[in-house]
Formats: sequence, structure tokens, C-alpha cells
Amino acid sequence: MNGKRLNIAMDGPVGAGKSSIADAVAGRLGILHLDTGAMYRAIGLCAIRTGTDLADEQAVTAMAADAEITVAHGQGGQHTYLNGEDVTGLIRTEQVSMAASAVAKYGDVRKLMVRLQQQLAAEQDMLVDGRDICLRVLPDANVKLFLTASAEERARRRYLELQKKGSTESYETVLEDLKQRDAQDMNRAVDPLRPTEDAIIVDSTDLTFEQVVDKIIAIAEEKMHE
Ligand code: C5P
Repeated sequence: MNGKRLNIAMDGPVGAGKSSIADAVAGRLGILHLDTGAMYRAIGLCAIRTGTDLADEQAVTAMAADAEITVAHGQGGQHTYLNGEDVTGLIRTEQVSMAASAVAKYGDVRKLMVRLQQQLAAEQDMLVDGRDICLRVLPDANVKLFLTASAEERARRRYLELQKKGSTESYETVLEDLKQRDAQDMNRAVDPLRPTEDAIIVDSTDLTFEQVVDKIIAIAEEKMHE
């Protein structure tokens, strides 16, 4: 490791379990977990609140440049702030998910977020999860991972999670939304979601949560000792 910062980059599609897996892995390694999706979600929430037309790139970019996004890590994990307001509990709705994916299409919005994420990762050892982390945010990360699972399995997990929160959304709607967001993330012109050549692909379709965590810890430990 030569005293270098420990940066683990983890990308993957909607519902691959990145956030909870990343929390567990970072916890076991004693490093912070930066959830970059939460930052795009905060921008998405800001667009909804300000009535910004999501199809208007200029308007969205100007709105994002004005918005102040910050994160803090404490006992309960990451808290995400929009203009000083803790919006952690407000950014998990389907409406915000779709708005986040829409604002994330725009190159200048991405540049703002990438810069912020790189600053944070330079300050401390971190596991960073998102869509463009291996390619753009941390191209020199010590460990690069692409976590995925079948669309049906990802929708099933997301559906159960939403049900727990009291949502009445059907499985079919969740699967449709997920496919739409996948398509939007994988087909956008700027930094589309796909595994980089140097990323290790971890398919969690047939693995339990603990098996995925163990597998990633094993990969990280091997890489860190290379
Ligand atoms: O990971 P999460 O589902 O919370 O991310 C919300 C949206 O933010 C994604 O659908 C994606 O469009 C966008 N995103 C991104 N790049 C990242 C993280 C998230 O484009 N690094």
C-alpha cells in the first residue's frame, strides 16, 4: 500500500445492493462509505422543489451549480445535505430516484459532483459507490468492483425493501422503473454505466448478503497486499 490512501471504487446498476453491501464492507475495513447516488438524489430533489424542467439541460445545470450539496458521516452512516438542510430521509422516493437519474445525464452536473467526490476521497480512506466511480471519480482506486445481479432479482429486493416502508407499489411497476432507470444510466452519452476493463465483476444473484460481503473483503484484502 506504500502509505497511499485506501480508495475502493464500486459501481453497479439500481438495486444491486451496493449501498448496504458497501456499508458492511466499509464497516469491516474501518473506512468511510461515500454514497454518491445520494448526492445526485439531492440535486434531483432540488429540481423537483424548484420546479426545474428536467428536460432543460441549461436550467438543470444552473440549478445544480447554485445548490450546495454536502455530506457528513456519523453513527447512522452518511447524512446528505441540500443547502444546509438534512435531506437524508427525503431522497429515497421513486419520484426522487427518477429525477436523480434525469439530472445525472448532464455533463456539467456530473463534473460538479465528480469534483466534490474526488475531494472527499482525497481527504480520507473511503469506499465510494456509484455508477462512474471506477471510470471517472477514482480511476486510480486500489480496488475496483462492479456489483450486479439479474434485473428480476434486483427488482425483487427493491420491491421487498419498499414494502417494508409501507409502499403499495406492485412488483411489476418496480421492475419497469428499474429497467427504465437502467436504460437511462447505461445509454446516456456522458459516462454511461458499464464495468471498466480493470473492474472485478461480482454477480450477487445467487449469493446471500454475507457471501457478497465476504467475497468483496477477500478481493479487497488480496488487492491491498499486492
Ligand atoms: O445509487 P442511486 O440509485 O441512489 O443513484 C441514483 C441515481 O443517480 C442513479 O440512477 C444514477 O442515474 C445517478 N448516479 C450517477 N452516478 C453516480 C451515482 C448515481 O449517475 N456515481
